[in-house]
Amino acid sequence: MKGFSTRCVHKGTLHTEIKSVNTPIFQTSNFLLSDEEYKKIIEGKSNKINLYTRYSNPSRNAVEEKIKNLEYADDAITFSSGMAAISTTLLTFLKFGDKILTTYDIYGGTTYFLNKILKNLNVKIEYKDPFDTEGIIDGIKDAKVILFESLSNPLLKILDIEEIARNKRENQIFIIDNTFLTPYNLNPLKMGVDVVIHSASKYLNGHSDLIAGIVCGKREFVEKIRDNMIIIGGSMEPIAAFLLERGLKTLGIRIEKHNKNGYEIARFLEGKKGIKKVIYPGLESYTKYQLAKKILKNGFGGMITFVIDGGDDKGVKFMHNLRIIKEATSLGGVESLISMPFNTSHAGLTDNEKMKMGIEKGTIRLSVGIEDVEDLKEDIENGLKKIR
Ligand SMILES: *Cc1c(COP(=O)(O)O)cnc(C)c1O
Repeated sequence: MKGFSTRCVHKGTLHTEIKSVNTPIFQTSNFLLSDEEYKKIIEGKSNKINLYTRYSNPSRNAVEEKIKNLEYADDAITFSSGMAAISTTLLTFLKFGDKILTTYDIYGGTTYFLNKILKNLNVKIEYKDPFDTEGIIDGIKDAKVILFESLSNPLLKILDIEEIARNKRENQIFIIDNTFLTPYNLNPLKMGVDVVIHSASKYLNGHSDLIAGIVCGKREFVEKIRDNMIIIGGSMEPIAAFLLERGLKTLGIRIEKHNKNGYEIARFLEGKKGIKKVIYPGLESYTKYQLAKKILKNGFGGMITFVIDGGDDKGVKFMHNLRIIKEATSLGGVESLISMPFNTSHAGLTDNEKMKMGIEKGTIRLSVGIEDVEDLKEDIENGLKKIR
């Protein structure tokens, strides 16, 4: 079973004695106990049996098996949200006084966790630009945890993962949030990363109808995180596992289409009147185009960031003019969604902070869906016409 889509469809499915084609939804909080289970509990192996759904559940195990396979991980854990996955993982490895090396160019929720929770635990936080490989390698030296996104939010900066992994020391933990690229476009664990995190609310589920998270990676690390998932309690509901397993079956064909549409729309936007700048890793104008071409062999993803002439007001007007592309935060669904960082994900920052990060006035983030690309082009063209 080698092909990506074959594995998306079949890996992990639990066929029970009832002979169901699909994994049943084990919507139960607890399981019947007998001597075998009591023995495991006494041996301290409660997480190896079906005991209580906060610990584990067969519907979740099926999804974990599938993800484990798609990301080339030893082990995987499902979570109730991407933030539950991120917070549990960071709390597992960072102790009082430790340093985390990360970036401002990261999901807002992650920044809030660092500033509101980890700072109070006296964790030192150092920020580097994802493009600044040398600076990152310099900052690694005394870091316990290294945390970046494989493609950052919202400026779509790619990370030289292999070079950073080569310079990492034995006792340091390199964590990558792979939400924007998915295992179809990149497998960070094959590049020397220790732990991969996903907000499965985005591409992995793909239908904008679920909040879920994933952690996967090397066994020694994932086991520690699972112990804490059970204690902290961000475990996934069985019905959510069903939705995620169902979504994952089409991950291959969906991302193939997101990649194609993303590339076409990025090229369509570039050089268009009224558009100041387009950021997309598949464009030759992209700052680290050579690196992107080297590591993103299957495609460059469905996320595009662009800057519209005339600033934030013009951007808002442009978005209001769209008919097919919908105004909403979040990303990775089958439908195209559009938003502006200034009044959504980065609303908490001052103008100066946004400028420092590189978020210009008029910056728009587009999550290109799987619609027919000609319809999307027409929608954008009409939107632009009305603001010229
Ligand atoms: C959405 C998102 C998260 C947070 O995930 P939730 O499922 O919303 O908790 C984390 N990282 C990235 C890159 C995201 O896009």
